[in-house]
Amino acid sequence: MNDNKKIPDSLEIMRKFSEVYAQRTGTFFCIDLSVTSVVIEGLAKHKDEYGLPLCPCRHYEDKVKEVSSAYWNCPCVPMRERKECHCMLFLKSSNEFASQGQQISFANIIKDIE
Ligand code: SF4
Repeated sequence: MNDNKKIPDSLEIMRKFSEVYAQRTGTFFCIDLSVTSVVIEGLAKHKDEYGLPLCPCRHYEDKVKEVSSAYWNCPCVPMRERKECHCMLFLKSSNEFASQGQQISFANIIKDIE
Protein backbone atom coordinates (compact mmCIF):
# COMPACT_ATOMS: atom_id res chain seq x y z
CA MET A 1 0.00 0.00 0.00
CA ASN A 2 1.14 3.50 -0.77
CA ASP A 3 1.77 5.67 2.34
CA ASN A 4 0.46 8.73 0.48
CA LYS A 5 -2.62 6.88 -0.65
CA LYS A 6 -5.16 9.38 0.68
CA ILE A 7 -4.11 12.37 -1.43
CA PRO A 8 -3.67 10.46 -4.71
CA ASP A 9 -7.10 8.87 -4.20
CA SER A 10 -8.80 12.24 -3.93
CA LEU A 11 -6.77 13.62 -6.78
CA GLU A 12 -7.83 10.70 -8.95
CA ILE A 13 -11.46 11.08 -7.94
CA MET A 14 -11.44 14.80 -8.77
CA ARG A 15 -9.48 14.21 -11.99
CA LYS A 16 -12.07 11.70 -13.15
CA PHE A 17 -14.94 13.92 -12.02
CA SER A 18 -13.47 16.84 -14.00
CA GLU A 19 -13.17 14.82 -17.19
CA VAL A 20 -16.66 13.37 -16.95
CA TYR A 21 -18.26 16.67 -15.97
CA ALA A 22 -16.53 18.53 -18.84
CA GLN A 23 -17.85 15.94 -21.26
CA ARG A 24 -21.34 16.07 -19.78
CA THR A 25 -21.54 19.86 -19.93
CA GLY A 26 -19.73 20.30 -23.26
CA THR A 27 -17.06 22.44 -21.60
CA PHE A 28 -13.30 22.27 -22.06
CA PHE A 29 -10.12 22.50 -20.05
CA CYS A 30 -7.82 25.50 -20.24
CA ILE A 31 -5.14 25.68 -22.93
CA ASP A 32 -2.71 25.93 -20.00
CA LEU A 33 -3.27 22.56 -18.33
CA SER A 34 -1.32 23.64 -15.25
CA VAL A 35 -4.40 25.77 -14.41
CA THR A 36 -6.53 22.62 -14.60
CA SER A 37 -4.06 20.69 -12.45
CA VAL A 38 -3.92 23.29 -9.71
CA VAL A 39 -7.71 23.58 -9.51
CA ILE A 40 -8.12 19.80 -9.38
CA GLU A 41 -5.50 19.64 -6.63
CA GLY A 42 -7.35 22.33 -4.68
CA LEU A 43 -10.63 20.47 -5.01
CA ALA A 44 -8.96 17.25 -3.85
CA LYS A 45 -7.45 18.97 -0.81
CA HIS A 46 -10.83 20.34 0.22
CA LYS A 47 -12.40 16.96 -0.29
CA ASP A 48 -9.79 15.46 2.03
CA GLU A 49 -10.11 18.18 4.65
CA TYR A 50 -13.86 18.83 4.60
CA GLY A 51 -15.36 15.80 2.93
CA LEU A 52 -16.57 17.70 -0.14
CA PRO A 53 -14.79 19.55 -2.96
CA LEU A 54 -15.36 23.15 -1.95
CA CYS A 55 -14.29 25.55 -4.71
CA PRO A 56 -10.57 26.29 -4.21
CA CYS A 57 -10.58 29.68 -5.94
CA ARG A 58 -12.41 31.69 -3.31
CA HIS A 59 -11.73 33.07 0.14
CA TYR A 60 -13.99 31.80 2.93
CA GLU A 61 -14.32 33.02 6.49
CA ASP A 62 -15.53 29.60 7.57
CA LYS A 63 -14.94 26.66 5.25
CA VAL A 64 -16.99 24.21 7.32
CA LYS A 65 -19.99 26.53 7.08
CA GLU A 66 -19.47 27.00 3.34
CA VAL A 67 -19.32 23.26 2.72
CA SER A 68 -22.58 22.77 4.56
CA SER A 69 -24.29 25.57 2.62
CA ALA A 70 -23.29 23.64 -0.58
CA TYR A 71 -23.39 26.70 -2.88
CA TRP A 72 -19.65 26.54 -3.65
CA ASN A 73 -19.27 22.77 -3.60
CA CYS A 74 -18.04 21.74 -7.05
CA PRO A 75 -19.85 21.87 -9.40
CA CYS A 76 -21.03 25.11 -7.80
CA VAL A 77 -24.40 26.75 -8.43
CA PRO A 78 -23.09 29.26 -11.04
CA MET A 79 -21.61 26.34 -12.98
CA ARG A 80 -24.71 24.21 -12.71
CA GLU A 81 -27.04 27.06 -13.65
CA ARG A 82 -25.02 29.08 -16.16
CA LYS A 83 -21.84 27.12 -16.92
CA GLU A 84 -19.80 29.79 -15.17
CA CYS A 85 -16.58 28.46 -13.66
CA HIS A 86 -14.44 31.32 -12.38
CA CYS A 87 -11.61 28.84 -11.62
CA MET A 88 -11.25 28.19 -15.37
CA LEU A 89 -11.59 24.45 -14.84
CA PHE A 90 -14.63 24.19 -17.12
CA LEU A 91 -14.59 26.64 -20.02
CA LYS A 92 -17.16 27.20 -22.74
CA SER A 93 -15.78 26.71 -26.24
CA SER A 94 -16.24 30.44 -26.86
CA ASN A 95 -13.77 31.29 -24.10
CA GLU A 96 -10.45 32.49 -25.52
CA PHE A 97 -8.59 30.25 -23.06
CA ALA A 98 -10.54 27.09 -23.88
CA SER A 99 -8.67 24.17 -25.42
CA GLN A 100 -10.48 21.42 -27.27
CA GLY A 101 -9.54 18.93 -24.56
CA GLN A 102 -11.58 17.28 -21.87
CA GLN A 103 -8.89 14.95 -20.60
CA ILE A 104 -5.97 15.29 -18.24
CA SER A 105 -3.74 12.47 -17.06
CA PHE A 106 -2.85 11.79 -13.45
CA ALA A 107 0.83 12.06 -14.41
CA ASN A 108 0.18 15.49 -15.91
CA ILE A 109 -1.39 16.72 -12.68
CA ILE A 110 1.45 15.37 -10.54
CA LYS A 111 4.01 17.02 -12.80
CA ASP A 112 2.23 20.39 -12.53
CA ILE A 113 1.73 20.42 -8.79
CA GLU A 114 5.11 19.10 -7.66
FE1 SF4 B 1 -16.00 23.97 -9.48
FE2 SF4 B 1 -17.49 26.19 -9.54
FE3 SF4 B 1 -15.00 26.29 -8.58
FE4 SF4 B 1 -15.44 25.92 -11.16
S1 SF4 B 1 -15.97 27.77 -9.98
S2 SF4 B 1 -13.98 24.79 -9.87
S3 SF4 B 1 -17.30 24.68 -11.15
S4 SF4 B 1 -16.72 25.13 -7.72
